[in-house]
Amino acid sequence: MTHVPAPVAPPNRILMGPGPSAISPRVLAALAAPTVGHLDPYFLRIMDETQTMLRDVFRTKNPLTMSVSGTGSAGMEACVVNLIEPGDRMVVCVNGVFGGRMADVATRCGAEVTTIERPFGEVFSPEEIAAVVKKVSPKVLGIVHAETSTGALQPLEEVSRIVHDAGALLLVDCVTSLGGLPVEIDAWQIDAAYSGTQKCLSCPPGLAPVTFGPRAIEAIDKRKSKVASWYLDMTMVRNYWSDKSRAYHHTAPINMNYGLHEALRIVLEEGLEARHARHRRNHLALRAGLEAMGVEYAVAESHRLPVLNAVRIPEGVDDKAVRAQLLNEFGIEIGGGLGPLAGKTWRIGLMGEASSRRNVLLFLAALDACLKAQGGRSSAGAGVAAANEVYGDA
Ligand SMILES: *Cc1c(COP(=O)(O)O)cnc(C)c1O
Repeated sequence: MTHVPAPVAPPNRILMGPGPSAISPRVLAALAAPTVGHLDPYFLRIMDETQTMLRDVFRTKNPLTMSVSGTGSAGMEACVVNLIEPGDRMVVCVNGVFGGRMADVATRCGAEVTTIERPFGEVFSPEEIAAVVKKVSPKVLGIVHAETSTGALQPLEEVSRIVHDAGALLLVDCVTSLGGLPVEIDAWQIDAAYSGTQKCLSCPPGLAPVTFGPRAIEAIDKRKSKVASWYLDMTMVRNYWSDKSRAYHHTAPINMNYGLHEALRIVLEEGLEARHARHRRNHLALRAGLEAMGVEYAVAESHRLPVLNAVRIPEGVDDKAVRAQLLNEFGIEIGGGLGPLAGKTWRIGLMGEASSRRNVLLFLAALDACLKAQGGRSSAGAGVAAANEVYGDA
């Protein structure tokens, strides 16, 4: 007889890493709702409502706004593969792992890729962007808004103006920013953007919200060659998502779309401004606590991400031992450093549902215990006290 394993019974983690983030019970309940057909009138209504809510969250009027079936990386691939034809020039700004991934994707799509680079943790200046678009005159410039691998936030407004003055399209990775900090697709004139469900939207990994503006659609409509990916071809996918044709392309992951629908409802019920303010407040409290404990940030204050706090691992402290203790003793997951920052930084996520006073205080207390176990001095509650001071007397 085949041995049948026990049913899944995952531990209830406190997800404070670089994603996935904590999921609301409301979203988990939506995922468990009965599956209907992908052309069922009920599901079509869910798709329409999801598109409307995604436009609100992306702050755009773009009709071509929807979720791609796949994680954030599928959103990246969908944007690049639709905008790029073999031989097109594309500039990719690389200051972390995800910029590097975008350059890889663009190369695979047949783009002639030029990268500009910045050390991990830094961001690009308008002058650097101006110089490269002048030199290369690309069809597309791709840049990451919130580099989850480093904890750096790239300002976009001036970049957008420079890219458009050079006649290029601006493609932005909003995977970690959407739902946690301001993303203004229309006001910043971003031509195409993608996100993911698992970061600040607090929905499990599985869908990638994307939006394409008029200039991007024009570029797609003017293509001479077929989109190199069948699955991610927006010229076909958009017929399924448009209320006129509803042509079968692939079966949408029905229940994942229920989950995203509920996650977006939660975002809009809270309100974008209040949500961004909550992320900011919890970041400031965490920062005050960490600083009181002598833990320093790895990113300059001017471009620090509130949703992902990259900090230097204190001298003499064992990275893996602390993360293991946090997980095993306290059920808290944080991220280690990536690439050149491996072993040097921790990445503490305060994304979506996970961005809460409870998590900030719990984490600071747990970290205090872990640092003490490493032979350090306990801060004797100084971290928690400093964070509470930021919250005031609530
Ligand atoms: C997480 C992330 C991605 C990739 O998303 P997946 O859901 O892991 O495929 C891309 N870009 C950034 C900035 C991310 O944080």
